[in-house]
Amino acid sequence: FISTEIRIDELLLDMSNLIKLKHGPAAPGSELQKSSRIDIDFLRLPEQDTDLICEGNESLLKVLFLNLLDNALKYSADNTAYVTINFTADHVLVQVKDNGIGIPADELSKIFEPFYRATNSHQVRGHGLGLSICKKIAQLHHGEISAISAPGKGTTFTVELPHRQ
Ligand code: ATP
Ligand code: MG
Repeated sequence: FISTEIRIDELLLDMSNLIKLKHGPAAPGSELQKSSRIDIDFLRLPEQDTDLICEGNESLLKVLFLNLLDNALKYSADNTAYVTINFTADHVLVQVKDNGIGIPADELSKIFEPFYRATNSHQVRGHGLGLSICKKIAQLHHGEISAISAPGKGTTFTVELPHRQ
């Protein structure tokens, strides 16, 4: 696929603004939905731009982070996602965290399978496809995606992508 140099923090900012349009603000007069919020933070500040540059397909990486942000907002009552960006010598690490419903421990290994939906999320709409697509995209970029969760407390997804070579 077409591969270019991508600043991961800029891509996340763009996708945050996009997903906020989908999830809120609530319609005037509506008490059903609070407006959504996305916090983006660096765990430590990059010394150089290249610390945050990945080589990859921009459209696919957008889809990956859109799905994670979408999940964080739709599976949490406070409609808030907390994004942390970090980097190592050879990887960019992005964490997308929420304080939402969480995922039962015995189902955590299945959520990346196509069409799998956790038993505690059936009142929320979805097809169970987003995360399977995220995983494919991470793998196509020689990266990884994983999740940890505390049911009733929240979930954190971690994406690791190799730096530009
Ligand atoms: P869609 O295809 O529209 O994304 P979906 O959100 O149900 O539908 P996935 O994004 O693949 O599908 O997620 C799979 C399942 O994992 C969800 O149905 C939900 O049970 C669980 N899940 C994913 N993200 C979260 C999260 N942030 N908090 C709690 N549960 C989650
Ligand atoms: Mg989803």
